[in-house]
Amino acid sequence: MSDPLHRTTCEEAFRRLDDFLDRRLSDTEMRLIEEHLEICAACTREFTFEESVLTGVRRKLRQLSVPPDLLARIAEAIRAAGERDAS
Ligand SMILES: [Zn+2]
Repeated sequence: MSDPLHRTTCEEAFRRLDDFLDRRLSDTEMRLIEEHLEICAACTREFTFEESVLTGVRRKLRQLSVPPDLLARIAEAIRAAGERDAS
């Protein structure tokens, strides 16, 4: 370890990838990962892949429309359960 700046290693970058994508890191940690991604092609590839998967899943969840009759059945089931508890 001769680097006085203590560069973020690939291992550290990978370990923090999820937190980085969720913006759960401190500003300093975010910057360290960003700096590592700028100089590391392998991590950038992984990062881009993970991000595309995450945003893809989130977009799908947003687009997911629940059928109205399903909502009605759930509401009915909750109401019925409540009545069962009350009696
Ligand atoms: Zn790396």
